[in-house]
Amino acid sequence: MNQKGKKKTCSRGHIFYKTSTCPICPQCWPGYRLKLQKDFPEKLSAPALRALHNAKIFKLSDLTKKTKEQIADLHGMGPSGVRMLTAALKSKKLSFKTYTK
Ligand SMILES: [Zn+2]
Repeated sequence: MNQKGKKKTCSRGHIFYKTSTCPICPQCWPGYRLKLQKDFPEKLSAPALRALHNAKIFKLSDLTKKTKEQIADLHGMGPSGVRMLTAALKSKKLSFKTYTK
């Protein structure tokens, strides 16, 4: 067995190995994802979804309170995630917050 990464135990006692600094328990993740998914794009990556949740963004319309830059800066959010969210907002006739001059 060649196990990589650090041994972690999730809050429900599952033991798993992860190299990432923000580990997701593979056994809990499917349920966790279901809970966080809401109306976010289905293809949004797990770290991106977590990043939104950590930033207290629990549904698509919460994104209208943040600028695109703030979202792009979230740890775990990549350019493809931002693109997906932009498209999802657009499809609902919403948009990221814009700076007021
Ligand atoms: Zn777990």
